[in-house]
Amino acid sequence: MVIDLHTHTSSGSRCGYQTPHELIAQAKRIGLDGVCLTEHDWVWPISEVEALAAAHGLLVIGGAEVTSDMGDILVFGVHRPVRDIFKIEDLRALVDEEGGVMMVAHPFRGRLGNGLSVDEACDWPVFRWTDGLEVFNGRSFAREASFACAVARKLGLLGCGGSDAHASGFVGDAVTILDRAVHSEAGFVEELRCGRFHAEHRLLRQSYSAREEIQL
Ligand SMILES: [Zn+2]
Ligand SMILES: [Zn+2]
Repeated sequence: MVIDLHTHTSSGSRCGYQTPHELIAQAKRIGLDGVCLTEHDWVWPISEVEALAAAHGLLVIGGAEVTSDMGDILVFGVHRPVRDIFKIEDLRALVDEEGGVMMVAHPFRGRLGNGLSVDEACDWPVFRWTDGLEVFNGRSFAREASFACAVARKLGLLGCGGSDAHASGFVGDAVTILDRAVHSEAGFVEELRCGRFHAEHRLLRQSYSAREEIQL
């Protein structure tokens, strides 16, 4: 089941240039099975997410991209407001209370210029607070994606993929592929937590699984 785990819309992100309807229509057009709405520091109301899913006949899941003191963090399975949360330990506590999952978004965007080694990156505290990382972001370059895979593999962490699309032309550039079909947010979060998925960067033709790395 192919899902874009990281998207923004004009309804929830000032930087979003697609309505949720445009996003979901595009996801269907290119053959995705679902999308996660991960607005900056804002969680979609469940009723609105369900209405979008029903209107389009596609799995739609509300998550968020939370600005933390350790960078941007994607959270799933969380329904309480996240706007006032900044410290990573507070976010971890909230996600645990809600039974959710948290992944570091694009951890190495703009961070590879000064000779950072994989070993040094593995020591970043953020990876001790999170369940995994976004190894493939639709806006990441090949070197950044490969570096993220190397860190995830070394730490034995889960690695997801999402486009970070702010406009519909970018939807699906990077995706997460679940081994099993899910029909609800609870099912989706469970599959993520159990690591039954792999990530693909469709522009770079790279693939990552916490179990093994697959070259497409
Ligand atoms: Zn971000
Ligand atoms: Zn984003």
